[in-house]
Amino acid sequence: MSAMIEISGLDKSFGSLEVLRGIDLTVRRGEVVCVIGPSGSGKSTLLRCVNLLEQPTKGRIAVDGVEVTDPDTDLDAARRHIGMVFQGFNLFSHLTVLENLTVAQRKVLRRDRAEADRVARENLDRVGLAEKADSMPAQLSGGQQQRVAIARALSMNPNVMLFDEPTSALDPELVGDVLGVMRGLADEGMTMLVVTHEMQFAREVADRVLFMDGGVVVEQGPPAEVIGDPKEERTRTFLSRVL
Ligand code: ADP
Ligand code: MG
Repeated sequence: MSAMIEISGLDKSFGSLEVLRGIDLTVRRGEVVCVIGPSGSGKSTLLRCVNLLEQPTKGRIAVDGVEVTDPDTDLDAARRHIGMVFQGFNLFSHLTVLENLTVAQRKVLRRDRAEADRVARENLDRVGLAEKADSMPAQLSGGQQQRVAIARALSMNPNVMLFDEPTSALDPELVGDVLGVMRGLADEGMTMLVVTHEMQFAREVADRVLFMDGGVVVEQGPPAEVIGDPKEERTRTFLSRVL
């Protein structure tokens, strides 16, 4: 069983709006897949279906061998080991950085304070923010807040990390540090599904790139092919706008 994420025949509609149409996607263990495509093409919806923030209209999704679309699956248990990082940082503003990292560990994983603190500090160190444990989120730059959000997700020992345009809300000079952390995770063998407009990152880090448009996967393959030498006209048009 080497597939970490298996999606087959995924459809998602909001009322009469068909947002995803027949998506098939397998992400292997340790693989980094970047999803690119124009705004409104269904990238976020795809990610949100993987951890059941959206209920698929049709199709099957399995994560780490657990079919999350099976009505009998314990969703909280399945979601526990799927890390997600959004464009906005979504930190709890009234809690310190350390507390942001320990809340879910204690409530959801039932770790005691000492263990949760230990894991939190380890992950803050991993994202280069060990010295910010006692800061409040508002005292940090956007890039630092996003790294805290990544450390928070990592503190839950995820089997897979989903990133939805994690650097899109950042000032340009702060993007590099966040991408650097993500690159480190990829090097450590984390399975990652990343929606991004950072083509350089996709080129260098992705094992595979998916180009989505209009709710379908138009083209996929190694970055050198999809970004470097796209086959489809729609991919070329998109890339000519973003590169
Ligand atoms: P992307 O992330 O590629 O920009 P999204 O997945 O966010 O695209 O959105 C795809 C389409 O689905 C858009 O037309 C968007 O307006 C629509 N959409 C997304 N979420 C909802 C929702 N909760 N209700 C209705 N329409 C939605
Ligand atoms: Mg989106």
